[in-house]
Amino acid sequence: MTTQLDDTHDPSLRSWVASANGHPDFPIQNLPLGVFSASGGPPRAGVAIGDRIVDIAALTSARLLDGEAARFAEEAASGTLNASLALGAGPRRALRARLSVMLREGATERAAVEQCLVDAASCTPHLPVAIGDFTDFYVGIHHATNVGRQFRPDNPLLPNYKWVPIGYHGRSSSVGISGSPVRRPNGQTKPPDAAEPGFGPCRRLDYELELGIWIGPGNGLGEPIPIGRAADHIAGFCLLNDWSARDIQAWEYQPLGPFLAKNFASTVSPWIVTPEALAPFRAAPAPRPNGDPSPLPYLTDPIDAGEGALAVTLSVLLSTKRMRDGGVPPQPVSVSGSRHMYWTAAQLVTHHASGGCNLRPGDLIGTGTISAPEASGFGSLLETTNGGREPLRLASGEERRFLEDGDEVILQARCEAPGRVPIGFGECRAAILPAPALS
Ligand code: CA
Repeated sequence: MTTQLDDTHDPSLRSWVASANGHPDFPIQNLPLGVFSASGGPPRAGVAIGDRIVDIAALTSARLLDGEAARFAEEAASGTLNASLALGAGPRRALRARLSVMLREGATERAAVEQCLVDAASCTPHLPVAIGDFTDFYVGIHHATNVGRQFRPDNPLLPNYKWVPIGYHGRSSSVGISGSPVRRPNGQTKPPDAAEPGFGPCRRLDYELELGIWIGPGNGLGEPIPIGRAADHIAGFCLLNDWSARDIQAWEYQPLGPFLAKNFASTVSPWIVTPEALAPFRAAPAPRPNGDPSPLPYLTDPIDAGEGALAVTLSVLLSTKRMRDGGVPPQPVSVSGSRHMYWTAAQLVTHHASGGCNLRPGDLIGTGTISAPEASGFGSLLETTNGGREPLRLASGEERRFLEDGDEVILQARCEAPGRVPIGFGECRAAILPAPALS
């Protein structure tokens, strides 16, 4: 799939949904997919437009969809998007095209579509799909270097890093939606100066700033996905916070990698931002430094090499209980961008399936923490505070080495390109609850 711009991307388009015009996340050029419930009702598929949500099932009832768009809606009637995403780009694009027409200023369908809108603020977001599998990669080369340096000052990047996309299989059962609190885990830790490990609340709780990739059709077992077809299997993107217990991680990670330090919670933003919406923001991957190897042939594709990256600015904001009590807004603590990914989304999909592993509709792939090279763009507190040695000073007068109970972490993403209407991902937000009492 190559970048296809059409009239849904027209920067002059305005919506009769007034809040969409100039909306930082959801102007009419975005139209992301999600699942919501209203007034205690069952989960329903929807599309965000400004501060409203279009109820897809209501469009169907009003006979406002036909053809492939109707097929997408039919598969979404169960209140989860797995089956719709499995259909691939055609029905997804058809729904986008139809919504773009019906939501434009002057649309003849306005009166009918208005009956299908609900206020987002009154709705509860849900996971957009039933996530079968969750895999987390490690494509943020500055993050990998920073973390590696804490363990191996002279040799921060292991020799495989520039050849093979590093990842591990995560846990889908504990992936939660933005707004759901995260409970601090208890776990086994062993401080360096302790003779033996102990068990108790994590003391080095951290966030990780990542993008999530939602899988569309997927592949059969034993059937790899060629790099030139990888984009066909990407249904969209979200923000992902891969919560991490650094003290548990340090004690357990050798020799098999992350386990309980990562599986207690991950948080995603509610809206699937589609490849169509992101088409104006495609970019060439950052050039590899001189001397780095070229990707092996199975990870090489001319289109991916030309426009396989995305121009997305990624931010972390922190809000403490004291800040909220004092009416102080969340404080930005990091600004990074997807240009700091060493591998593209297509390369991750192809590599994942290269040995025959089957990806299924609704699977979630995390990029790994995306840190900028400079400290103001580090994507975790582990990096920002140099392993807890240099506290982050907040405008409230507080300090943080790692997260404390009551802290709230907010991830944001914004796409901008010359001559284009900017779009965003919506928030990925969660607050920390105290650890469960030890019995
Ligand atoms: Ca991670």
